[in-house]
Amino acid sequence: MNISGKVKICGIIGDPVEHSMSPAMHNAAFEKMGLDFVYVPFRVKREDVGKAIDGVRALNIRGLNVTIPHKVAVMPFLNELDPLAEKIGAVNTIVNDNGFLKGYNTDAAGFLQALLDKGVEPKGKNVLLLGAGGASRAISFVLAERGANLVLLNRTLQKAKESADRLTEAFGREVRALELSHWNLVAELRHADILVNATSVGMSPQQDETPVPPSLLTASLTVCDIVYNPIKTRLLKEAEAAGAKTVDGVDMLVWQGAMAFEKWTGVKAPVEVMRGVVTGRLGGSPA
Ligand code: NAP
Repeated sequence: MNISGKVKICGIIGDPVEHSMSPAMHNAAFEKMGLDFVYVPFRVKREDVGKAIDGVRALNIRGLNVTIPHKVAVMPFLNELDPLAEKIGAVNTIVNDNGFLKGYNTDAAGFLQALLDKGVEPKGKNVLLLGAGGASRAISFVLAERGANLVLLNRTLQKAKESADRLTEAFGREVRALELSHWNLVAELRHADILVNATSVGMSPQQDETPVPPSLLTASLTVCDIVYNPIKTRLLKEAEAAGAKTVDGVDMLVWQGAMAFEKWTGVKAPVEVMRGVVTGRLGGSPA
């Protein structure tokens, strides 16, 4: 790597960050596009988020990604929020223009782009979304905004209810919330066009687990799993075996990264290079 005196610095803050694919993905993209940029991981403790953001201004760091557990905590330290990030209530990308810091949420737009890229249009479709954590919050918002008919299922019903109530109020159409149980899956999958797993079930090292029994998967479904390690989760393997169309978590990861890259550099992201780096590191082929 050839780092000049004019290099622009980007990075990711989170805790932990050691597992992140973003440094490899972005550095490969900068190199491919001949940009004098470098991307580094910063492990930042919860209590140091404000100091880290001061440091972004002081060191003139061009941009950051933000990951668990700081996506909500960074918000008060920024100068401006993109309306989508403000409505979702979480930021995963920051752009620094001469000390003026603006926060975005490219997880939401990245998820939607991953679907559209595979020819899946959620508008007017019945979408069953599993999970009510941070990722589900961004995904549910963008799906509701796009005009999907959304049902949320979560292990902790209260969290799904809170999300559903927020969405119902924001979009003026009912979003239902149910407990993630076998019988609710049976009932809701009968009408579903798209199933999205936004829980962490199936993520390594628990890759033998699945949130949905294989007997409930059919060829008429599109099944999307945002878990990206492994790339082909048990859910995606069983969906493929049932003849369903599948969208893997690498697609969302790459698109959220590509959108951040474009905000920092003003250059179109080399999406295939970024995808190649991630799939190479995860050791598999995309779904
Ligand atoms: P989070 O805020 O911790 O939420 C975790 C969700 O999973 C909650 O809904 C939780 O239910 C549910 N869950 C966990 N263990 C479960 C179990 N044994 N049975 C049923 N439900 C269970 O995490 P997150 O940030 O939303 O991330 C969720 C997953 O998405 C992670 O695997 C993460 O790596 C992945 N992700 C991928 C991308 C991408 O770009 N592809 C982006 C963001 C996240 P409760 O509410 O009941 O606890």
